Amino acid sequence: MFRAVKRLIDWTGPYRRRLYLGFVYSFFYNLFTALPVLGAVYGLHLILADRQGLITLTPDRAFYMLGFMLLTVAGRFWFGYLRAVAQESIGYELAAEQRIAIGEVLKRVSLGFFRRRNTGEITAAVTTDLSFIELFGMKMIDLIVNGYVGALVIVVCLLFYNGTVVVAALAGLLGSAWALQLLGSKSRANAPVQLAAHSRLAAAVIEYIRGMPVVKAFKQAGAAREGICAACRSSKIINIKIEKNYVPYNCLHLFFLKAASVAVMLTAALFTLQGDMTLPTFLLVAIFSFSIFDPVKPLNEGTHILEILDQTQDKLRSITTAEPIDKDGRDIVLSSYDIEFRNVTFAYEAQPVLKEVSFLIPANTTTAIVGPSGSGKSTICSLMSRFYDVNQGSVLIGGVNVKNLTSDSLMKHISMVFQRVYLFQDTVLNNIHFGKPAASMEEVVAAARQACCHEFISKLPQGYETVIGEGGSTLSGGEKQRISIARAILKDAPVIILDEATASVDPENEHMIQQAIGALVAGKTMVIIAHRLATIQNADQILVVDDGRIVQRGTHAELSRQEGVYRRFLSVRQAAEGWRLG
Ligand code: ADP
Repeated sequence: MFRAVKRLIDWTGPYRRRLYLGFVYSFFYNLFTALPVLGAVYGLHLILADRQGLITLTPDRAFYMLGFMLLTVAGRFWFGYLRAVAQESIGYELAAEQRIAIGEVLKRVSLGFFRRRNTGEITAAVTTDLSFIELFGMKMIDLIVNGYVGALVIVVCLLFYNGTVVVAALAGLLGSAWALQLLGSKSRANAPVQLAAHSRLAAAVIEYIRGMPVVKAFKQAGAAREGICAACRSSKIINIKIEKNYVPYNCLHLFFLKAASVAVMLTAALFTLQGDMTLPTFLLVAIFSFSIFDPVKPLNEGTHILEILDQTQDKLRSITTAEPIDKDGRDIVLSSYDIEFRNVTFAYEAQPVLKEVSFLIPANTTTAIVGPSGSGKSTICSLMSRFYDVNQGSVLIGGVNVKNLTSDSLMKHISMVFQRVYLFQDTVLNNIHFGKPAASMEEVVAAARQACCHEFISKLPQGYETVIGEGGSTLSGGEKQRISIARAILKDAPVIILDEATASVDPENEHMIQQAIGALVAGKTMVIIAHRLATIQNADQILVVDDGRIVQRGTHAELSRQEGVYRRFLSVRQAAEGWRLG
């Protein structure tokens, strides 16, 4: 438990001073909680002495006593307020900073990182796990530090009256600390199981929402719901089992505290009966015997939460310390834009997907990559953008190995237009702006015009300010594609990687997309995963990929004269598009 507290304190980093200041305020808060009781007992002592004729209680003295009581109550509130101001916002400030830091890390890791960790785990880390720390982190530190400081302040007060009572109280506190230690080690073992169940639940919810169109189309809501229901049931079973696990330790903790209360009370009663303790002191001890353990009582809950917080920090740490793919990269401005693969071998898992691939794409030319589905075309493009690192060989752009560039400086030179366009849930303007955040409105409109989307954007209810649904859900496939081309035109990068849509769009949309692509490619090095015969025919070079190897290369005229994969590919495409080889 104390290890977890120390870790949380370390986590507060630059805010640690505020945290320590909060501890000082906590001490005074607890002191001012105990002082009214001491004041009341002292008042009682004076009244009794007055009755016995030992002193004369003047009204002045009574007023002073009243003033003292009011002052202690005000002091308690004031220090409680100061503590809250110093400590409570720390969790929120740190969590916000950490979320931004995670965003930066995720931007720079290899895409393989997302394959190794499921989306649910990352989503849970950034949302609920961090929320858990921001909500409970400081509260738990306060609970534990305040709990022990509060109890110790009362123990110190009691020390002035009776040592035996203090021994009984300390024995109770030690017993409870032992029970909490046992509870802590149980929690430490349980916390990863609980967090894993939580991540699975988050993943199941994401999967369910993402798959909604398929669920509706195939009327398979029952089957899809089963995944999410199973995750809910498993989370419930795990949580109940864990809670049951804690019951004996919770009981042990409370037993020590209650037994110590009774022991304190009995000891005080014994001393009073023997005439070794005055009545007011007995009353003081009687009141304290109940309140001394109050701040320590909720620590059982706190111990469990602390262990979860500890594991959550481990989980977040494994994300925040993920190695950026470009950690050795430099900001380099390229002077030429030819792309070269030299003996590239690459595997996502054990099985190589690309095998000794070599080719050169000269600057300012268009290269079409063709081949059967699953042959490795998209993988080639992912390696050009260094979404992954090659296992063997090298990828060079403008003669510079992509490993020597930072992701930012590499991506400055590349525009990508994906087949599955993703638009952010934001305005049309901001979606296009994404290509060049500093662009003026005129530049955005010019890019939109070139990409043949200005007209339909102007007809949207708020024009460029219209908010697009998540993933672009409120626009047609063709419209989304054109907006993504406008984004790329605005970026004006010298290298364009384009994954041509395989899904057929209506002829008008098709024509506009081709026109938009025409505007995009002018004077660029263009790599296009091509499916349409017109695109392939117009390319300066065609690379034919089959089973992770370049099996043919050349122009359309050259390749159509050769036997091989390209001819077979052509006949399939011709049949699909109703063409004939001339
Ligand atoms: P293509 O673009 O030609 O259809 P890909 O490059 O997408 O082919 O895929 C090549 C092979 O790599 C396929 O067997 C595919 O299953 C596998 N693959 C693609 N992406 C991943 C990934 N992210 N993780 C694991 N395997 C992948």
